[in-house]
Amino acid sequence: MKYRLMDILACPMCKHFHLDLYVFQEKEYQKREPNEKIPLCEIYCSYKNVEVKEMANPPCFECIKKEIVEGLLVCPSCNRWYPIIDEIPRMLPDKLRKKDDLDFLRKYKDKIPQKVLDSGLPFNLKNP
Ligand SMILES: [Zn+2]
Ligand SMILES: [Zn+2]
Repeated sequence: MKYRLMDILACPMCKHFHLDLYVFQEKEYQKREPNEKIPLCEIYCSYKNVEVKEMANPPCFECIKKEIVEGLLVCPSCNRWYPIIDEIPRMLPDKLRKKDDLDFLRKYKDKIPQKVLDSGLPFNLKNP
């Protein structure tokens, strides 16, 4: 998943936008250069954590080379969490979520905020 997507993604359940991003594993594609097919961050760069309009140089030539391989998206409004696995954000509504996702929480529990582990939705490690 590209950092650029953070500019677009909203919570599928409560529609809140911006989500919180936790990166566990990231890959760099050195050859990737900006072009028309790879849009740059327009409003907010989640890689640099800065508003595009506050950037000194043309934005995001670094962040388009990065791909988030494994990570977690958390909705700060409803405390839902969504795993990023194999570069794909798995943003499903509650009724399509599988309990298998709990394995993902267990795998990265040392890097995941306690409030997600204890009370994240649609399920968590305290109420699996
Ligand atoms: Zn960027
Ligand atoms: Zn939400």
